[in-house]
Amino acid sequence: MFDVVIIGGGPAGMSAAPSSGRGKMKVLLIDEEKPRNAVTRESHGFLTRDGITPDKFREVGRSDLQKYPTITIQNDRVQSINQLGEHSFKLVTLTGRTVHTKNIVLATGLKETLPDVKNIEQFYGNSIFSCPFCDGWEMKDRSLVLIMENTQAFHLVKLLKNWTDDLVLATNGQYWLDDQQKEILELNNISIIEEKISSLNGDDGELRSLTFEGGKELERTSGFCATHLDNTLPFINELGIEIGESGYITTNMMGQTNIPGIYAAGDIKGPSQLMVSASQGHMVGMGIIANSSEAQFITK
Ligand SMILES: Cc1cc2nc3c(=O)[nH]c(=O)nc-3n(C[C@H](O)[C@H](O)[C@H](O)COP(=O)(O)OP(=O)(O)OC[C@H]3O[C@@H](n4cnc5c(N)ncnc54)[C@H](O)[C@@H]3O)c2cc1C
Repeated sequence: MFDVVIIGGGPAGMSAAPSSGRGKMKVLLIDEEKPRNAVTRESHGFLTRDGITPDKFREVGRSDLQKYPTITIQNDRVQSINQLGEHSFKLVTLTGRTVHTKNIVLATGLKETLPDVKNIEQFYGNSIFSCPFCDGWEMKDRSLVLIMENTQAFHLVKLLKNWTDDLVLATNGQYWLDDQQKEILELNNISIIEEKISSLNGDDGELRSLTFEGGKELERTSGFCATHLDNTLPFINELGIEIGESGYITTNMMGQTNIPGIYAAGDIKGPSQLMVSASQGHMVGMGIIANSSEAQFITK
């Protein structure tokens, strides 16, 4: 029986491991090693690790965990979770391993779907990005395109104005902009192209231009796109974990969900960043130790 099983070994899961393992909890971290940021060449903004590759970040993180005999790492995928009782869960993995634990940390991140543009995956993470906080500095003051197929991430338009004065919004054949939005864009000197993109042109991940179905060509060497994000855990609903209005898991400050013994950290609580995910993971570890100490302390 483990005290804690952490599902997902990104910054959230890797931080939850030492913060609970150093509290003498018996911890198992299960990770299938498919992080959302794997496509990117450099990660920014994590203090002391600015510019690190996602692979190196993971390697350094895992080497920290390997120092602790309380922490075991398994490369695998959790397929199912069953609650057997209060603080009693059974997990089954893809390789057929069955594990029992008192606490679970969900740190599985998100899966993202790119806009429906041919070859976009060749450029994503190299010259087309999704998060201005992560890659805006590297793209600053350039002529940018923002590919956005619906209104959901309209805030990105406003955000990107912080990094460039030359922005074209390409809706890729989707006519979702209303008159008010068009007026606002015009006031802010943002051009709009609503035609479908027929190709992204460039080599080795470096964008050179976009061609539109009507034949128009737009020269741009970099840009951003709005991606669609999904939780990767079908068992969230089966366990009865509460989801907030934003569509993501809700927790208290220490990362505890509405189910005692189930915690969540990182992107699964809403798209975030390496540093934020790591800090949430760390808080979860502290929360587990605090709750377990409270439960065991003799008061009478
Ligand atoms: C292209 C791109 C560039 C980015 N650049 C930056 C940047 O420069 N700076 C920054 O701060 N942030 C950046 N981010 C955001 C950052 O990567 C995420 O916020 C962060 O990785 C979230 O951490 P996490 O631990 O929650 O999830 P992840 O890092 O996604 O890790 C989740 C892990 O859980 C595993 N997993 C999922 N399901 C299961 C399962 N059932 N069983 C076992 N394992 C499972 C996955 O395989 C994965 O390894 C970027 C994101 C993208 C997409």
